[in-house]
Amino acid sequence: MESRRRLRGARRIVALTGAGVSAESGIPTFRGPDGLWNQFRPEDLATPQAFERDPVLVWEWYDWRRARIAAAEPNPAHRALAARPDIALITQNVDGLHALAGSRDVIAVHGDIWTLRCVDCGAERVDRTVPLPELPPHCAACGGRQRPGVVWFGEPLPADAWRRAGEAAAHADVFLVIGTSSRVQPVAGLAGLAKLVSRAWVVEVNLEPSGSEADAILQGKAGEVLPDLLDRG
Ligand code: NAD
Ligand code: ZN
Repeated sequence: MESRRRLRGARRIVALTGAGVSAESGIPTFRGPDGLWNQFRPEDLATPQAFERDPVLVWEWYDWRRARIAAAEPNPAHRALAARPDIALITQNVDGLHALAGSRDVIAVHGDIWTLRCVDCGAERVDRTVPLPELPPHCAACGGRQRPGVVWFGEPLPADAWRRAGEAAAHADVFLVIGTSSRVQPVAGLAGLAKLVSRAWVVEVNLEPSGSEADAILQGKAGEVLPDLLDRG
């Protein structure tokens, strides 16, 4: 298969993952048949305005997601990527499952659901308690409200992670787009950047093609496609 040949010949491979890569671990995606957004409207929950309006509602939803994620384990897709430390890994996921599978240096462009950040002083701490004893949680340093350390709609991406993601994309020979609907900007533009700047071969792995500018589409579950695709044997 052409993609396999390209992968073998590549000097620099970059993978971008989305919620679909964790679906087989039992974590709902946002879009698609079992998507969370079918039950909740994103604008009610994942925006700074929603948090301003009703921090307890927003936190109840995050607390529920944290509980689901805490019960989840990495699946064969996470493990196949972890077995290839030569592949630069960019993720939109906030669940930490790539790290749990053993991936190091994961570029988490949308933050991390286990990090709590003070709205007033910016202090951050990692807290894996589920459920949280108090909603919203409060900052030990200044008493301010804490929010989830994730990127909400309309917010800028963490500068360092975004810079690293752009650099990786600009040097890719092969760019894998895995389990993402490619709708959330600016991350969805990374594949196009890789094509434009380094003429990367773009391979999409998805249950159904997302309409990204892929050169090849491998339709199927990430947990079934990746172990075979990334196996060097
Ligand atoms: P998305 O929900 O918009 O899209 C999920 C995509 O995955 C869809 O295209 C779907 O067809 C595909 N998919 C579903 N199951 C799959 C499987 N087993 N194998 C391969 N593909 C599969 O997700 P997104 O594009 O990542 O964008 C939404 C935002 O959602 C991101 O910012 C992310 O932070 C957030 N999110 C994260 C998590 C998580 O951390 N696990 C979960 C939900 C949403
Ligand atoms: Zn504070």
